[in-house]
Amino acid sequence: METKIYQVNSNNDTAAIKDAADILRRGGLVVFPTETVYGLGGNATDPEAAKAIYAAKGRPSDNPLIIHVASPEDAEPYAVTSDAYYRLARRFMPGPLTVILPKKDTIPLSVTGGLETVAVRCPAHPVAQELIKAAGLPIAAPSANRSGKPSPTCAAHVIEDLLGRVDVILDGGDCEVGLESTIVKLDGESGVLLRPGAITPEDLESVLSDLSISPAVTAALREGERVLSPGMKYRHYAPSAPLTLLEGEEDAVRAFLIEKANDHSIGILCFEEELPLMPEGASLFPVGKRADLEAQAHRLFSALRDADHASHIRQLYAHLPSKTGLGLALYNRAIRAAAHTILHIDRT
Ligand code: AMP
Ligand code: MG
Repeated sequence: METKIYQVNSNNDTAAIKDAADILRRGGLVVFPTETVYGLGGNATDPEAAKAIYAAKGRPSDNPLIIHVASPEDAEPYAVTSDAYYRLARRFMPGPLTVILPKKDTIPLSVTGGLETVAVRCPAHPVAQELIKAAGLPIAAPSANRSGKPSPTCAAHVIEDLLGRVDVILDGGDCEVGLESTIVKLDGESGVLLRPGAITPEDLESVLSDLSISPAVTAALREGERVLSPGMKYRHYAPSAPLTLLEGEEDAVRAFLIEKANDHSIGILCFEEELPLMPEGASLFPVGKRADLEAQAHRLFSALRDADHASHIRQLYAHLPSKTGLGLALYNRAIRAAAHTILHIDRT
């Protein structure tokens, strides 16, 4: 299949979006930018489009897709909404939040991986907004990476993974957030956080009377354990060199990294402050300043892909993120990329 690539920051936006919307209505696949990561979109009411999405990603078809609508009310034909949904919507939509609600029959089971619930998101990115409106459809879209790769945060990542496998790529530059949306499942007034993201648990607690955090967010799954969010059982974001996360006192961890960095086959996802301390020729992948969690979220997946491209690297190290605020989302992605390998460094 030939993939059309459109730059959507320029003046030809309208024509590109109109073409992409026509292709979606005809059952085709369109990659589009959102404020979180790029999405691989198809018509959410068409079971054939869902099949095509799974095939393009190489994703198991029990992993449900998120449906994207232009405004919170547009979910009405597809999901059973509630007061709690609209309270969340007023605060955080459009934005990086996905809400799981009971589904209506308009959404095929092939889109929800056989579940009776559907994931609804209202993206803030202007290109995503215009595309959904021009198509006049809800767009089912998982992240636009091949299964097992980090989610794409710029068009180059998408091209690397999906060129020739989709009809259109809308290149809208870098995604602002860089981590996938927060996912919360509603049950009446209560919510369960299934995936942390830029909308933090503290944000959700300011709206919901009761929020619990699914154990799968921070822990390794035991063999055969059932998960509420099927995507959580897959090993995600796996770099080809094994990744080990380091915890411990700041100076001790830094000394450990400086020592390791003498070996150029060891790659380090380091903080910007650490760059000048590292030996010359070290294989470094900066992820932003220690205190700047937004920058780290924005950089993490790019850094993991950059490390993958450096084929001489046999082992990767990164700092274990904290679990507070946006840190929880970084922690959740990092432990998946590291297959839960954490090393505690003691002061020497
Ligand atoms: P992605 O679109 O690649 O960010 O992945 C979508 C995530 O949403 C996956 O982890 C899914 O498991 C999760 N998800 C989508 N729909 C549902 C649902 N109905 N119930 C629970 N999790 C869902
Ligand atoms: Mg994904």
